[in-house]
Amino acid sequence: MASPGTLQCRHKLDSYKKLKSNNIVKLKADRCIIAKETEMDDCIFCKISQGVIPANKLYEDDEVVAFWDLNPQAPKHFLIIPKKHVVGPATLAPADEALMGRLTRRAAELATRHGIPDFRLVMNNGAKAGQSVFHLHMHVLGGRPLSWPPG
Ligand code: 5GP
Ligand code: ZN
Repeated sequence: MASPGTLQCRHKLDSYKKLKSNNIVKLKADRCIIAKETEMDDCIFCKISQGVIPANKLYEDDEVVAFWDLNPQAPKHFLIIPKKHVVGPATLAPADEALMGRLTRRAAELATRHGIPDFRLVMNNGAKAGQSVFHLHMHVLGGRPLSWPPG
């Protein structure tokens, strides 16, 4: 089990070897334990949106950034995030509703623009639902038939 302040990551360690992850704090079996990212200072997606950590970006404006996922789960897999640090869907404030609408519309526009007419939008909330980065993000997946229900 992960100790308080950390999370057991659902990804295989091999995935994370690619991530230059300064947030890996401990290794256990073939999995890694990652620091729980609840602080902006310690948040990999805040760093990507600020350009401190490089990412293969496909879109950026004042409010949102989209970049290709480092460990894609489909032939086309990108993430779209608000620049503002929000932990996840469950912590959205009423004032974030317009931002979420823009995020969703931009995700769909980018999917179409990048040759993904059929796509799936996924937002994981909480470690047991598969969230491993605690800065709200929407996965945009496509490029192959996607089965249902998801795992
Ligand atoms: P979650 O598991 O939280 O729903 O999704 C986090 C996603 O972020 C994963 O698909 C993971 O591969 C991706 N990811 C984590 N760190 C980085 C990174 O530094 N760069 C990029 N491009 N993707 C990342
Ligand atoms: Zn953040």
